[in-house]
Amino acid sequence: MGILLPSLVLASEFSELLHRADAVRSSDRAAFDKSLARLEALKGEANAVERAHLELLLNYQKVIRGDYQSALGSASVMFDQVQEPQLKYRSGLLVANIAALTREFSLGLRFLESALELREKIHDADIRHGGDVVAGNLYNQYGQYALGLEHAERLLSDAPSARNRCFADKVRFEAMSGLGHLVETRPHILTSIARCSEQGEVLSANAIRSVLAQRWAANGKVRQAIAFLEASLPEVEATGYTRLIGEYRALLATYQLELGNEKTAEMHAVAVTELKGQDSGSLPNVMARHVLYRVALGRGDTRAALNEYRLYAEADKARLDDIKAREYAFQLSRHEVAQKNQSIELLKSQNQLLRLEQEVAHKEQSNSQLMIALLFVLASSLGYWGWRGRRMHRTLRQLAQTDSLTGLANRRHFRAQSEALLAQARQRGRPMSLLLFDLDHFKQINDQCGHATGDWVLKEVARVGRVHCRPGDVFGRIGGEEFAVALVDCDLGDAEIIAERMREAIAVIDGRASGCPLPVSASVGCVATSVSGHEYETLVAHADAAMYRSKVGGRNRISRYQTASATPVPVPVRIESVPVAAAPEAMRAS
Ligand code: GH3
Ligand code: MG
Ligand code: MG
Repeated sequence: MGILLPSLVLASEFSELLHRADAVRSSDRAAFDKSLARLEALKGEANAVERAHLELLLNYQKVIRGDYQSALGSASVMFDQVQEPQLKYRSGLLVANIAALTREFSLGLRFLESALELREKIHDADIRHGGDVVAGNLYNQYGQYALGLEHAERLLSDAPSARNRCFADKVRFEAMSGLGHLVETRPHILTSIARCSEQGEVLSANAIRSVLAQRWAANGKVRQAIAFLEASLPEVEATGYTRLIGEYRALLATYQLELGNEKTAEMHAVAVTELKGQDSGSLPNVMARHVLYRVALGRGDTRAALNEYRLYAEADKARLDDIKAREYAFQLSRHEVAQKNQSIELLKSQNQLLRLEQEVAHKEQSNSQLMIALLFVLASSLGYWGWRGRRMHRTLRQLAQTDSLTGLANRRHFRAQSEALLAQARQRGRPMSLLLFDLDHFKQINDQCGHATGDWVLKEVARVGRVHCRPGDVFGRIGGEEFAVALVDCDLGDAEIIAERMREAIAVIDGRASGCPLPVSASVGCVATSVSGHEYETLVAHADAAMYRSKVGGRNRISRYQTASATPVPVPVRIESVPVAAAPEAMRAS
């Protein structure tokens, strides 16, 4: 017995040390590193499960040190090999988390969903809930807010600790905001912020603050939003967490610009672009670039504005590619699940078919007629499953390309379609035009008549706009209240005629049909390949500049792109037509 004692003591010390290391892994890096070094030294005394637990912690350490690839590799091997459910669950979630960081979205989702299948086997509530938090955060990041919300609510209904409750609240508010369901007056948003702060969860507290500030700003309380964000900015900066700092600064830049404080807006926007580790395609970077573009445009500096627009468009494209990759990964994972179910159905049908075939072989002549009929039905149902797979593929593709509110092409699809049409037009030497519509004072419609009315107006605009598109044209909703039309075989003169018809059709939308007395109108920018070339980004930049002139000129009008000046147009003039001074190539070179 005396010989066994030291090893028993060591074993319990090992396990105790493991738990201590686990508890401080995200809050005290030095203590975590020290415990891991000690654990490695004692590894010889550990059993298989404890060694696997240590390996999991070493993978966390690799992630903290930024060694994603190595952590990803060994955590995924661990997920496949380890039997103990909790360690399997945690390693699967770790892979999902790392894969989101390394942008291996499909891989991440596959591990997330496999890990979640183990959830009911996880008896330690804290670990179980850790999975809900990871899932909620990831689904939100993938734009799947309904799923994000579902996981947050599942956690909240499972008696979470105060800390997990804070995390769940953060996921929940972000998801609700993403779904457009967040009501700013809910006092428990403030309660949740306080709860997170109490737990020392500064990142979550400030992430919720950001959601609330965005809600206020969307409801016209821009000053209140700015004050709220500014008050927390020092705390956010102190975290050194690029993503949140970028978010705060980009929101401040956007809101300050909205109030006409161009200098402050520019200062915040520049700070975003200078943040270390900021992705070009991150939303804060896209927002900051847009602010810098608007600031240059406001100064009347067309050259600088076009330059800034180019940077903005690049960032925006990177962001669209990123969103596309996430969306595609998500749909792929759904498709895989559906396919798995389908394969099971297929197998069942095939087995049934085989059984029937055997029976037919043994049956008497009198019965076989019926059997043959049955066989026929089953054989065609096998074809049905194949057809279902193809149909699902089509549906998925369509969903990824369509704006769900209006049924028009979404921004990404509009761009892809337009680029294809532009390439064709260039090849065939045919003209093409592009129209950009931005609804006027749309915020007022939302504020005074409600968001639902705003949505109704957007659908109406899509409906009346469609009437004026010709077959082959592409009509898309490329922003909240921004629409675009790519007109094939159409030069500027014809494009302006179509634009004018559309503008008129929008201006006669009667908001009273949905109980809103406010007028509906749009400011339009028109460009053509004959003036601006065949590059999509340049065309949109020029259309945006022209649209902006329509705004400055009094709204509810159309302007064609001109490079000479940004002088507003006298109010009664509806169609702007100013000669072009510089070739697009010269603008591009600037
Ligand atoms: P301007 O004439 O200068 O364009 O004024 P505006 O009010 O249209 O300005 P802004 O572009 O700032 O406002 C756009 C608003 O559109 C803000 C946003 O709340 C609203 N919006 C964006 N997407 C949607 C949506 O899907 N539904 C509804 N109802 N509103 C939306
Ligand atoms: Mg707009
Ligand atoms: Mg607008």
